[in-house]
Amino acid sequence: VTFEELGVCKTLCEQCKSLNFQKPSKIQAQAIPYALAGKDIIGIAETGSGKTAAFAIPILQSLLENNKPYFALVISPTRELAFQIKEHFEALGSSIALRVVAIVGGVDMVAQAAAFARKPHIIVATPGRLVDHLENTKGFSLQSIRFLVLDEADRLLSMDFEKELEKIISALPKSRQSFLFSATMTWKVEKLQRASLRNPVKVQA
Ligand code: AMP
Repeated sequence: VTFEELGVCKTLCEQCKSLNFQKPSKIQAQAIPYALAGKDIIGIAETGSGKTAAFAIPILQSLLENNKPYFALVISPTRELAFQIKEHFEALGSSIALRVVAIVGGVDMVAQAAAFARKPHIIVATPGRLVDHLENTKGFSLQSIRFLVLDEADRLLSMDFEKELEKIISALPKSRQSFLFSATMTWKVEKLQRASLRNPVKVQA
């Protein structure tokens, strides 16, 4: 199967080619058609499976059709993963003037608020710092977000981010598309899934 056959647009197919993605990985082949059809997705996949592009490609394709700021929010358990996800989006979006911001701990709040005010398309965030901005930065709103990604959900929960996730989810519009990726399916992940996804399709790497 090719990216084209999954319904990926020409711009992004070419971008995949230039990144040397010869063909979709298993999780990409399974998730991308459902994601492009507007479905919520639970993806059981580990790092190395190509899970980042599995959610980034459909989000970017939707953004290409409807260029709006504050388009997608990706929640990551760690700063390191957040920066990797940001770089991955930037690589896939290098031909389309994509703006991505990382909202993570250990970086000056004021500088981060200024970066947020510059209308990024994609926000990649760790939960603690994102809640800090929601509660303390004037004008910081997630009301325009159309896509939510909870990446490495099992790690998010093992790091005790439940309360923060609840606050973040309640700050998002109800009409949105949501993806949850996790290496393992635990009862805590199932509970988070019920609180954040609507009629999800389950796919596995
Ligand atoms: P991830 O599982 O998202 O962390 O991705 C693992 C690595 O696989 C990253 O370095 C990606 O750039 C790369 N990758 C993602 N999709 C593909 C693909 N379809 N073909 C080749 N490499 C890929």
